[in-house]
Amino acid sequence: GWRSRAAFKLIELDEKFHFLRPGLKVVDLGAAPGGWSQVAVYRKATTVVGIDLLAVDPIPGAEIVQGDFTDPQNMDILIEKLGGKADLVMSDMAPNTTGHAMTDHIRIMNLTAEALDFAIQILNPEGVFIAKVFQGGTEKDMLNTLKRMFKTVKHAKPPASRKESRELYVIAMGFKNTEN
Ligand code: SAM
Repeated sequence: GWRSRAAFKLIELDEKFHFLRPGLKVVDLGAAPGGWSQVAVYRKATTVVGIDLLAVDPIPGAEIVQGDFTDPQNMDILIEKLGGKADLVMSDMAPNTTGHAMTDHIRIMNLTAEALDFAIQILNPEGVFIAKVFQGGTEKDMLNTLKRMFKTVKHAKPPASRKESRELYVIAMGFKNTEN
């Protein structure tokens, strides 16, 4: 079985956008307890590399590093383990909520912005970036970057995401790779 309810969110996003094709090299940011990585392996990704602050029980076919994604050393470790470029960078990272809506919003958007910077460095042409954002969608600057770097940019709330939760996902497909 899947280790998380989040696994269903990824499956539902894929039902809508069809990005989980066999043979992908995948990076899973904020991987614990491992649901998204499980789904990627099940969908026949050839490489799945992930990271989380929390330890993740081993997942055959995936390699999950324990650490802080925003530490540049850990980004280098991910790149090294990936052994090349990625086809899909997916981030379900969420900082612990403070209960203060504005603070929570800023913290998650900073994390997502770092995930996007990372994705831009390591995605193959036509690659896909998926990340958790908050309602209100993606910040203007980030949206501009996404639209410049990807052919299509969509937002979606999968049915498995609780109605009362303000989470939303951005799905950017068709990486243009114009700046490398
Ligand atoms: N997609 C996962 C699954 O299917 O099992 C669930 C991910 S959970 C909603 C969000 C995760 O992001 C948490 O496990 C948290 O530890 C992680 N996280 C938050 N900030 C992080 C950071 N700076 N570096 C790495 N992981 C982080």
